[in-house]
Amino acid sequence: MSIYNCPHCGKRTFNPWTKAFAGQLNSYGKPCQECGRRVVNGKAATIFNAVYSTLAIAALIVIYLLGDVKYNERFPFIHHYGFLINIGLFLSILLVPRLVNAFCFPLDKAIKIDLNRR
Ligand SMILES: [Zn+2]
Repeated sequence: MSIYNCPHCGKRTFNPWTKAFAGQLNSYGKPCQECGRRVVNGKAATIFNAVYSTLAIAALIVIYLLGDVKYNERFPFIHHYGFLINIGLFLSILLVPRLVNAFCFPLDKAIKIDLNRR
């Protein structure tokens, strides 16, 4: 079974693009085109993305601190390029979870209750 199959009806109704925007366990998810029930990226994707974001933010803070003028002599590379590295890290926090959702880990049933649903 492909990671793009709906966990409710088993039909392949998602592609990398729609899967990337289906959200994670903490979101309402996207309705399947076949059965209309809501689908999100599963536990593995949610955990991976949480861990990745945490590590990337930690690295961002460390680089920010090491790039401080005080450490200029000891960390010249970070002093000169830390800002660029942090821009890259920041963008990766936005992009990596989307890419991971698009290409890795299976979909799962949405567990969050949709209050607008009748
Ligand atoms: Zn379905």
